[in-house]
Amino acid sequence: MNHRGGVVIKSQRELELMRAAGRVNALALRAAVALVRPGVTTAEIDQAAVEVLRQQGAQPAFLGVPGAYPYPATTTISVNDELVHGIPGKRRLREGDIVSIDCGSIVGGFVGDSALTVGVGKISEPAQHLIDVTRQALFVGIDQMRPGRRTGDVGAAIQAYVEAQGFNVVREYTGHGVGQRMHEDPQVPNYGIPGRGLSLAPGMTIALEPMLMAGSPETRVLADQWTVASADGELTAHFEHTVAVTREGPWVLTTLDPELDGEGPPEYNDYFVGRPQAIREERSMRS
Ligand code: MG
Ligand code: MG
Repeated sequence: MNHRGGVVIKSQRELELMRAAGRVNALALRAAVALVRPGVTTAEIDQAAVEVLRQQGAQPAFLGVPGAYPYPATTTISVNDELVHGIPGKRRLREGDIVSIDCGSIVGGFVGDSALTVGVGKISEPAQHLIDVTRQALFVGIDQMRPGRRTGDVGAAIQAYVEAQGFNVVREYTGHGVGQRMHEDPQVPNYGIPGRGLSLAPGMTIALEPMLMAGSPETRVLADQWTVASADGELTAHFEHTVAVTREGPWVLTTLDPELDGEGPPEYNDYFVGRPQAIREERSMRS
């Protein structure tokens, strides 16, 4: 296997396998999002992803991940102040909640890793704004995923965008290389200094994942020893795509195949096709 700066470089064939894994992950997330409504449990949402992976012959990447105890589910589902690693269970979603769903799929030995945050029923304007900024921060980062750009350029672009919108990025959790293992080098923080860090090269595959805090950037781990939440109880949001660096520009691997799969839900279709809509700043300027 080819390496550069300690980072695994994927061949075209390996990128195709990662694309297959990424597509399954998109199908799983679309099925999960379709269930989100007041009254549904997070376990029911997880089960929708389980079914998709089974139908597609994919393995779950999160199930059994070592921690205080092996991670027990296919997705992580994190509600409101919960940021990442929430364990699906009996919790029922309520109108006005925001819910972050993260999933990992393995196809042909390669991992696709992606996540998004959606509202439950009608949500508040500040909650919608947090979601919109987080989604846009992901696309701001993706736009930096080009040969010769550095990981510091990616982080700096995300951080500048997020902080200009009045939100904070998390420090303790970062984007990461992904391939045959879910977490490979390099780490790609959602903050940074332009021109610093590893130089990106074609064949690198990175899970980019802005994690935003409406309040302070401090986090805490809940009593279940997995769920990471904001220390101050304020809302959080999380969007993630697995992206390949290519000579032609960023290739978002964790999208639907429009010919085979159709579209995503209208309000999230830009995410499921891996392209940003017109920047949503107008909304915040109006509000
Ligand atoms: Mg993830
Ligand atoms: Mg990840």
